[in-house]
Amino acid sequence: MIPIPLLLALFLAFGVDAPSAPPDDPREAIGRVVAIMAAVAAASFGLGLWTAFRVRRRGFAAARVRRAFFHGSRVMGMATVAAFGWIIHQEDWPGVVLGTWGWRGSILVDDALLIAPFLVMQVLSWWGAFYGERAIQGLPAMHSGRSVLRHLYLRERQSLALVLPIVSIFVVRNDVVGRLWPRWQEDPFAETVELAVLGVLVLSVSPIFIRMAWPTRSLPDGPLRRRLQAVSRRSGFRCADILVWDTDHLMVNACVTGILPRFRYVLLSDALIDSLTPLEIAAVFGHEIGHVAHRHLQYFLFFFVGCLAVLTMASDAFAGLETWIATLTTADPTAPSAFRDVIEGLVVLVAVGVFFGVVFGHLSRRFERQADVYGCKVVSCGSPDCPPHFDFEGPKADDLPIRGVCPTGVRIFADALTSVAHQNGIDVESRSWRHGSIASRKAFLQRLAVSPEREIAFQRHVRNVRYALGGGLVASIGVAVAAHWLGVLR
Ligand SMILES: [Zn+2]
Ligand SMILES: [Zn+2]
Repeated sequence: MIPIPLLLALFLAFGVDAPSAPPDDPREAIGRVVAIMAAVAAASFGLGLWTAFRVRRRGFAAARVRRAFFHGSRVMGMATVAAFGWIIHQEDWPGVVLGTWGWRGSILVDDALLIAPFLVMQVLSWWGAFYGERAIQGLPAMHSGRSVLRHLYLRERQSLALVLPIVSIFVVRNDVVGRLWPRWQEDPFAETVELAVLGVLVLSVSPIFIRMAWPTRSLPDGPLRRRLQAVSRRSGFRCADILVWDTDHLMVNACVTGILPRFRYVLLSDALIDSLTPLEIAAVFGHEIGHVAHRHLQYFLFFFVGCLAVLTMASDAFAGLETWIATLTTADPTAPSAFRDVIEGLVVLVAVGVFFGVVFGHLSRRFERQADVYGCKVVSCGSPDCPPHFDFEGPKADDLPIRGVCPTGVRIFADALTSVAHQNGIDVESRSWRHGSIASRKAFLQRLAVSPEREIAFQRHVRNVRYALGGGLVASIGVAVAAHWLGVLR
């Protein structure tokens, strides 16, 4: 659910020092920015319409076409971020906004204008991809303009829900704190402290934003709600409400938000409720509870803030690296050249990207599996002799605690996964960086069903990864703080 491209764009716009002097020829710079945005839009429309054309010609969406569209969409997502990075750092967009247009020092307007090219490109590329998505789902795309607008409105609203808290962070950080305590931002720890405080705030209150920005309604009372409430009671899970999330039946999805029970919601999309059986929905619901039970959100916050702290404090080390890189190139290191800047930027970006991609990806996939196991457990009877399977329904089952996985429970959860993948047009074999492939998740669960004692080893492995990573981060921060105090850095 985390909008990674948007976070990257925000990082590119606000996290990295960008040139803010007005460019020599602002009109030419603006022209090039518009041209880049037009190129991104053209590529997205090309992909979407080409996919729609191929589906219509064959009469159905072949696996090859689906895959091509899926990968094409990913490439487009990355291209949008890359194009935005280019606009910010090569076309001096901040210089245009702050210098040429004179918005420096304003509250919110400057931030909004800085990020605007990204948001425009994103809407345009969603628009282009829309035709491909509709064709793959077997729906007519061309007949009404209203459905395009409604689709873009829903997606923008979704994305905005996650942007609002982040934007408020930047406003508070750049405009309010900067004015009240101008010295504060010079402190090397300021950024880390701010991010930790604001991250906790966002995780706590973001559910309110999500409810404001996504069309949701309370899941009406009935057998399904009572079943899910029973699962909650058995797991000791508390939330403010279970919500139906209206996506015009476009998305089969579920998520949980918030670290405080008072502001915590479980969202189940309309299409998910319609296409899964009540037992499968309970299993998906259990997966979301698993994320909360294992405190994944808190750990991710700790991981992000910890990495950022290490990065901030290691910036001096990076400066040393830059000088070293400069000696490798034939160019005179004292003469600034665009080529050197690009190489340096790339090296740092690749190093951070590889570390982050490998570690965060691994962690995220382990966490998904942990949540999967929990999802299996809430529909499992825990009996080693299953089948016959015992379904936890009715008041007599309310007090029974969650036990180990059973083969039937695993099958229910695996069916739910397959169904979700199928409905969303995702190939079960296609690998996802954050979730792993559906096939590998199912294979893992099937091994657990055959020999449930494997779970102990798996949980121990995840715990060790958490401790090792946490220990490493704390130790790095400790070393950096000690070095700071001893005056080694700065
Ligand atoms: Zn999950
Ligand atoms: Zn069973």
